[in-house]
Amino acid sequence: MTSGMGCFVHPEEQAVAACKRCGKALCRGCIDLYSKSGEKHVGLCRDCVVAVGIECGSHTSKQAVVLCRDCGKGICRDCYDSYGAGIGAGKALCFECTERMVQKHLFEINEFRSVVKGERTWMIIGAVIGSFLLAYWGSNQPASNAGTVIIFWILGAFIGASIGTIIISTIKAGFSSGKEEGMGTGCVVAVISALGMLLISPIMSIYRFFKRNKQIKQANAIIASDERILQEIRAYFAYTQVLEKNAGADIAKLVSGELSGNAYAQAVLNQGEKAAQEELRKGVNQIDANGEIIDSFNKRK
Ligand SMILES: [Zn+2]
Ligand SMILES: [Zn+2]
Ligand SMILES: [Zn+2]
Ligand SMILES: [Zn+2]
Repeated sequence: MTSGMGCFVHPEEQAVAACKRCGKALCRGCIDLYSKSGEKHVGLCRDCVVAVGIECGSHTSKQAVVLCRDCGKGICRDCYDSYGAGIGAGKALCFECTERMVQKHLFEINEFRSVVKGERTWMIIGAVIGSFLLAYWGSNQPASNAGTVIIFWILGAFIGASIGTIIISTIKAGFSSGKEEGMGTGCVVAVISALGMLLISPIMSIYRFFKRNKQIKQANAIIASDERILQEIRAYFAYTQVLEKNAGADIAKLVSGELSGNAYAQAVLNQGEKAAQEELRKGVNQIDANGEIIDSFNKRK
C-alpha cells in the first residue's frame, strides 16, 4: 500500500489495507465496519460484502443491495428504495441509524434552545439594570424632566439588553476559546472582543433577536418533521412484515383488515408503490438535510 493513499469511501482517511476481493483502498474504520457481519466479510470493501452476499438487517429473507453508512448493516432493495437516505451509494442509512440521527437532532436542538434561553435571560437582566442606571443618571442631570428621564430609561434598557445578549456571549466564547491556551489568553480574548462588541452590539442584538426567533421556529419544524418521518418508516416496516406473511394478498383487503390505519399501506393503495417509496425517501433525505440546518444554528453569530 502506497503511503498517503486515501480510503475509497473516505478519501480524507489514510488507507491501511486493500479489499481482499477487488483491491480497493480501505481505511481502518471501513475494515472494522464491514468485517462485523461475519467471517466471510472480513477484509472486504462494502461493494464486495454486498457482492458475496449479506441479508437485509430488517428482512432476513432478502439480500442486501447496500450497507448502512453508519453501522454497516445490510439494506435490501425494498428498504433502500423506500427509505435509503442520501442520494447515491454509500449514503444509505438503516432504520436504527435514522432513528439515532433523529435523537441526535433532538439533543442538538435542545442544546440550542438552552443557548437561546441563556441569551434571552441576559438580555432581560441587561435591560433591567441598564434602564435603571441610565434613568437614575438622567434624572440627576441639571436640565432633566419627566420626558428626558423616560428617554434615558428606554435608552438604558436598549443598551443594557444589547450588552446582555451580545457581550456576555462574546465573553463566554472568549473564555471557552482561551481554555485551550490557558486562562490568561482567554481573558484577553474575552476583553478585547467584548470591547469591540460594545460598538456594534445594539445593531447585532436586534439582528440576533429576530434571527433566533426564526431559528427556534425552524427547530420546532425540524422536530415535527423528523418525528413524522420516523412514524412513516415504522409504518413501512409494519407494512412489509404483513405483506411477507400474506404473500400475494390483495392490498385493498389488507388495508381494510390487518393494515388498517397503516399510513404507508394507505399511500401504496392510493398512489401506488413507487410514489409511496418516493415520498418516504424524500422524507428521510429531509432528516439528513435537517442535520445541516441544525449545524448552521450552532455557529456563533
Ligand atoms: Zn472490494
Ligand atoms: Zn473508509
Ligand atoms: Zn445503520
Ligand atoms: Zn429490508
